[in-house]
Amino acid sequence: MNIVLFGPPGAGKGTQGDQIVKNFNLYKVSTGDLLREEIKKNINLGNKIKSIIDKGLLVSDNIINDLLIKIFSDKKLYNRLIFDGYPRNLEQARNLDSCLKKYKQKISCVLCLNVEKKLILKRILGRQTCINCGLIFNEYFMPATSKNHSCDPKFLNKRSDDNEKTVTNRFETYLNKTLPILDFYKEQNLLHHINGMLEIDQIFDEIRAIIASLET
Ligand code: ADP
Repeated sequence: MNIVLFGPPGAGKGTQGDQIVKNFNLYKVSTGDLLREEIKKNINLGNKIKSIIDKGLLVSDNIINDLLIKIFSDKKLYNRLIFDGYPRNLEQARNLDSCLKKYKQKISCVLCLNVEKKLILKRILGRQTCINCGLIFNEYFMPATSKNHSCDPKFLNKRSDDNEKTVTNRFETYLNKTLPILDFYKEQNLLHHINGMLEIDQIFDEIRAIIASLET
């Protein structure tokens, strides 16, 4: 099964993606994470990518395609992919279809997390990621404590694009470029809407029920 997680920035795609990975033995492909790794590894290309991300714009499709090529062709990941933050425009959605087709796979469902803009802002501005273990926390809703996080608090990090100005631009980019993809998936009968404003576990219950219904 291959799943696309869809929704505005801060909708909780990463958090729910991690839960799905744990429960259904899938492999999460986050283009945002792949880009952040590239920024750390590759100084020239990394600087270019960082300046685009910090403006809240989309990185070019060519860069994204290069990062994804290895994943599509990896036999270990066959039919086990969950996409977080990809596709982000219609070209990417068409490219995803043709890459999956090439490797004899398809999308099983698109899970659209719906969240109001006001809540998105709070989620993003409070977001902290542990650069040691990768867990995601939120200063307002789910602070890291000694009970839920074993790493030193010094590893908790705020993303450079998680500031008010960039978030506003990211949201605009989402509305203009990404949202039109929804019709593309609706026409293919792949779309499932999910209330992304509930508690993390409640949202995951909804997702679990949808995935279970697809498996039977
Ligand atoms: P969020 O979903 O909260 O915006 P991500 O980590 O998915 O966070 O993405 C961060 C940034 O990385 C985006 O604002 C964009 O600049 C870039 N990015 C991520 N995925 C893509 C993609 N598929 N195509 C183009 N740019 C992307």
